[in-house]
Amino acid sequence: MSAYDALMQFQRETEALGQIAGRLGWDQETMMPDAATPQRAEEHGAMANILHARRIDPRVGEWLDQAEAADEVAAANLRHIRRSFERTAKVPAALAAELAKTTSLAHRVWAQARADEDVASFLPMLQKVVDLRRQEAAAIAGNTDPYDALLDDYEPGATGASLGAMFAALRPRLVALRAAILDRPAPAALSGTFDEAAQLAISCKLALAFGYSLDNGRIDKAVHPFCSGSGLDVRITTRTNLTDPFNCFYSTIHEVGHATYEQGIDAAHLLTPLGAGVSMGVHESQSRIYENQLGRSRAFTGWLYGQMRDQFGDFGIADEEAFYATVNRVSDGFIRTEADEVQYNLHVLLRFDLERALISGDLAVGDLEAAWNDRFAADFGFAVDKPSNGVLQDVHWSEGLFGYFPTYTLGNVYAGCLHEALRQAVPGLDDDLARGDTSRATGWLRENLQQFGGLRTPVATVTHAIGAQPSEAPLLDYLEEKFGQIYGL
Ligand code: ZN
Repeated sequence: MSAYDALMQFQRETEALGQIAGRLGWDQETMMPDAATPQRAEEHGAMANILHARRIDPRVGEWLDQAEAADEVAAANLRHIRRSFERTAKVPAALAAELAKTTSLAHRVWAQARADEDVASFLPMLQKVVDLRRQEAAAIAGNTDPYDALLDDYEPGATGASLGAMFAALRPRLVALRAAILDRPAPAALSGTFDEAAQLAISCKLALAFGYSLDNGRIDKAVHPFCSGSGLDVRITTRTNLTDPFNCFYSTIHEVGHATYEQGIDAAHLLTPLGAGVSMGVHESQSRIYENQLGRSRAFTGWLYGQMRDQFGDFGIADEEAFYATVNRVSDGFIRTEADEVQYNLHVLLRFDLERALISGDLAVGDLEAAWNDRFAADFGFAVDKPSNGVLQDVHWSEGLFGYFPTYTLGNVYAGCLHEALRQAVPGLDDDLARGDTSRATGWLRENLQQFGGLRTPVATVTHAIGAQPSEAPLLDYLEEKFGQIYGL
């Protein structure tokens, strides 16, 4: 057997074990009895140890030294495996273990601090997480920017400097657009209650409309919506809120975007490093274009309005045009996960700048809350009222996920680029969307992006799909045009 074949056989088993570990996590959020938590923690730990040992197995290094790539698929597989092997090997085992232990403790301390509205009780633990992640970054990066080493975990090839330049171009136009919108009268909000079974029935219809295959997936309820798995078994969760059916509908469409990306990857890449979405940013571009550019479009919301009228009767919104404005209503809020298309990226930009400063050492952990509150007031025009609405609202930093936040906005930027290219490639798309038919849109995404999985780097994946270098301009143009029309700006 060639070194490449031996490596790929070993890798295939590692990928399969990774899928099993992921399914344990899915089970924990959907089916697992509550009292099983301590045992599940040990099960997770055992799987993590096995996976870590396989990723740094010395045989992998030997195979990588000898393996030759016969084609571009083999070259891409070797690139992924080498990257993971070298990265894992650079982090001392003691540091990796300390990070795992600390972040699991920090998560609990953060949850308690948030419940108590007590930032000070979280700061010593956050300091420890920041210190450990800085050590890890230094071990990986050597003399380059440590933030880039962390970012690279989620978005291979991206740098803090390049994202910083892109985000600096986004911020002033988003701040101005937000202010102009909030100066105008707000469209009606949804009111009343909406039957849960009917919400779930529409949610399932939406998933199918956006191309999700239930033969290779399933939809369950969970506290936080997520997508789990790759290849032939890709599951999503959604949630319901009796007074806010949009939460259920758009969470479902978002997760379906992630899921159809995974389901759309060429079956030849199953259980190989190419058989999953290429990065967090590209993944988020799929969930966001489904959710926003397609799902919240005038044409598609017209169809959704009819579906809601069928299930709920008259729910107080007069017609499709008013419904479109209600779906895209912009209002003040503190919480990132509840933010609309216009304000969402401002929440992310704030976190990106602060976490870069934390990792570089320019911002002390003790000054984080004040820096957060100052920046929030500058961009949103009002003051944070309590820590759970401010610096303690997100779980990410307690889990050590520095470098993760910017992939949300990068995903929106990529979605803007893909949407522009999609509209040029598929004329008359709105006629389809108005009938609830997304097949030409999702087909274009599958053909031009999804099928390739990890074949190319993240930037090259998007560049291949749109035929140009991605930039923030299409997203800004789209937002200004769409909300300018809705709000009469
Ligand atoms: Zn997402």
